[in-house]
Amino acid sequence: MISDAKIPYGKHSISQTDIDAVVEVLETQYLTQGTQVPAFEKAICDYVGAKHCVAVNSGTSGLHVACLALGIGQGDIVWTSPNSFAASANCALYCGASVDFVDIDPLSRNMCPIKLEEKLHSAQQLNALPKAIVVVHFAGASCDMQTIHALCAPLNIAVIEDAAHALGATYHNKPVGNCEFSDMAVFSFHPVKSITTAEGGAIVTNKQALADACALFAKHGITRELDKMQGEPHGPWYYQQLVLGYNYRLSDVHAALGISQLKRLDDFIAKRRAAADYYVKKLRDLPVQLPLSTSPDSSAWHLFMIELKAHDRPQIFKQLHEHNIAVNVHYIPIHCHPYYQSLGFKANDFPNALSFYENAITLPLFADFQQEEQDKVVSVLKDLLK
Ligand SMILES: *Cc1c(COP(=O)(O)O)cnc(C)c1O
Repeated sequence: MISDAKIPYGKHSISQTDIDAVVEVLETQYLTQGTQVPAFEKAICDYVGAKHCVAVNSGTSGLHVACLALGIGQGDIVWTSPNSFAASANCALYCGASVDFVDIDPLSRNMCPIKLEEKLHSAQQLNALPKAIVVVHFAGASCDMQTIHALCAPLNIAVIEDAAHALGATYHNKPVGNCEFSDMAVFSFHPVKSITTAEGGAIVTNKQALADACALFAKHGITRELDKMQGEPHGPWYYQQLVLGYNYRLSDVHAALGISQLKRLDDFIAKRRAAADYYVKKLRDLPVQLPLSTSPDSSAWHLFMIELKAHDRPQIFKQLHEHNIAVNVHYIPIHCHPYYQSLGFKANDFPNALSFYENAITLPLFADFQQEEQDKVVSVLKDLLK
């Protein structure tokens, strides 16, 4: 019998080993600033193939310090994708910069490189080029990084990857986060993401100066390194605040969970991929737009979104919930939120993101998704969409 418990759209997976790792730290002397955060940072570098990692207390703080590290401030412009969580744009506003968006490609649902090229061209005429762009690997599938890099590098525009969905994904057969085509990539370890630390995030980069700046801004702007200080230290206790920073540190308790979870990442991704493949196979004949297969690039399958073509989305959404299938919708385009409308954006400014939003439903997908749960989702959907 299929249990009638609610099937969530996403969920973390915590093992006894994960729990033991956290408890072990609780019994040591250091709950923060011990050995676990540096060990987690090294494990992330090893996994994604980046030179430096700065762990922080959320993906949002990671995006904020990434912008600060690039020197983004008042008078600067940052572009991102409207099809994302608000944090992808808020990070620039935190720094006093202004934000604009580049519409998505309807099939990849990621920032459209052709629209980016066109917008760069017009911005160049107006002398209003962005200082950085934040690209978002929506649902775990990498953006076309090589093309984006080729467009931005000659214009001296920095590229930040919002890789909150994409830990465990690959691009050109290499891990997302190796920063081959970007300045920095930012991960989130919120419970619905590939791995979790409860709250947490990380910035990865191959550039020493950016890593140092991220660490400085994430730790109050304070340094204890002699060679970074001005003047002579007053004594061995001495430290200096050099810039206005924040307390965005990750704790050792959270990092211990992250280390343990990272060891399970490949297994999580394999299970997400198998479930995504199963959806594609089973839903192929329904009147819906399925996610693009990204082969040879491999998605981390953070989300599995279908777009309805011939049905009323609110109605189908409600009916799925009535069957205890807790589908969701990602995303209300950032520029459609009242706050962004108050900055002057209109819903129709980015029609592809708007149209995707109006028809999309996020189906359940997570590492511990059971076969009978997925079969239930498939059969209910088939019933509703026939
Ligand atoms: C989750 C998420 C974030 C923010 O991460 P937090 O760790 O929740 O702060 C940023 N961008 C995207 C695209 C996300 O999905």
